[in-house]
Amino acid sequence: MPTAWRVLGIAVFLSCMAVRTLAQSAEPVAPLPTLQALRWDESVLRIVTSGKVTFHTFTLREPLRVVIDISPCALPKETIQPEGDTPTAVEKLRWAQFKEGVVRVVLDLRENTQYALSTSAGGSEAMLALGGAPVEEDRKPRPAASSAKPAPPPQPPAELVRMEWEQDKDGARLRMTLSRKVPVRLRPLKEGYSTLLELPQVKPGTDLPADWSVKHPLVEEVQFSPDEKGVRSALLIRTTRAASLSVQYDKQQPVITLAVNRPRNAQGKLSEKHIVIDPGHGGTSKGAVGRDRDSIVYEKDINLAIAQRVRALLQKEKATVTMTREDDSTVDLYDRPKLANELGADFFISIHCDSTPTPNSASGTTTYYHASDPDGRALAQAIQKHLAAVTGLPNRGARTDTAIYQSGFAVLRRSEMPAVLIEVAYINHHKDRAKLKDPKFQQRVAEAIVAGLKAYIEGEKESQVAQQEVEIRPASNEEDTVPPVQIPEQL
Ligand SMILES: [Zn+2]
Repeated sequence: MPTAWRVLGIAVFLSCMAVRTLAQSAEPVAPLPTLQALRWDESVLRIVTSGKVTFHTFTLREPLRVVIDISPCALPKETIQPEGDTPTAVEKLRWAQFKEGVVRVVLDLRENTQYALSTSAGGSEAMLALGGAPVEEDRKPRPAASSAKPAPPPQPPAELVRMEWEQDKDGARLRMTLSRKVPVRLRPLKEGYSTLLELPQVKPGTDLPADWSVKHPLVEEVQFSPDEKGVRSALLIRTTRAASLSVQYDKQQPVITLAVNRPRNAQGKLSEKHIVIDPGHGGTSKGAVGRDRDSIVYEKDINLAIAQRVRALLQKEKATVTMTREDDSTVDLYDRPKLANELGADFFISIHCDSTPTPNSASGTTTYYHASDPDGRALAQAIQKHLAAVTGLPNRGARTDTAIYQSGFAVLRRSEMPAVLIEVAYINHHKDRAKLKDPKFQQRVAEAIVAGLKAYIEGEKESQVAQQEVEIRPASNEEDTVPPVQIPEQL
């Protein structure tokens, strides 16, 4: 149809003209790119502008904040409404025209969080990832510490002025008064139910009472390890059972409260609980692969074998069990926690095998919980304690999933109940793999998972509370340099 062709031709010609005219007329005025959107996606802040800009980021203290200067940039006429949920580490998100051509975005932080900024190729978008490296397009896991920002300039340490316990039947709270606000961090240790409250910028005050003890059924021991230099002060908390530990910062005063409580769904008996067991991967998702000279082992098969044993043991305990898959079927990642949420389950336990990029480079057992969730951490500690006692492999501890992906594992992040992801052993380490394939080992692992869960709910049997020496050591001294496993599904 020649007419249509001609019309199209004119249209193309006209639009070319229009573009040229626009470009020419825009040149003398050269409007600055404007800030278009601020969007939270979990702990990643996306900053979108209308054109090519430069993002410059730095840290300010007292109060602790991350600043992103965008230039050349102007605020738009219409008001910006940040999208998504502000993560808990962030007290407030603010932005303003700092000076001509510079828009400043400020994140007021509640705790000292690592962050990393990455910009899009076009230069109009930046992602500020809190708690670790930014999630890149290919979702590469980051090596644990290498991408950390250099520490901000040191400040004189805060003084710990007062320390008071408050308690009732549900829990105990330690109120710590400091001379100024500082960030602190809770870190589970590998030895049973011991957790370190790291106070990296705190030194003991002169009038601090010598007696720290508290008598509460949940608390076994509290030990203060002061550092006069204010670099590595820490408080070791050992509990008699899996306990939920959390830290609250007072909004106005430099007061930190450490709460020790009985964790969620830890009442009653195991027989009254509904547990969702999630054998990782399945069907087209084979998971990690282990190769022997004459055979190949797929993670999905080991996961299912252990999960079926866990189910059988839980059913013997009269608990209600639902599996996210019963066989080698493909189950969407997000459908797994969704199922548990819809059922109103009490617990979500995901079973996996670990792997490294290089075979035979890492060995051991890890239990992950989401972010800094106190109940997930308590469940992870309980299960890891029992697992580590039977695997005969290195105890890699209970760990936060944000050490692997800054937003954590989807199955844990989306679960509304206490949830853990167990990496039983390394399928690409020959020693671990020999165990994983052994039905007796699978059974011991399943028994330990059930024992850990039972201990979380019903408490630890007296004889099982091991009296271990606990060494207090700062996080930076951790020996772990093994790169984390790539789990392509875990977005
Ligand atoms: Zn896996």
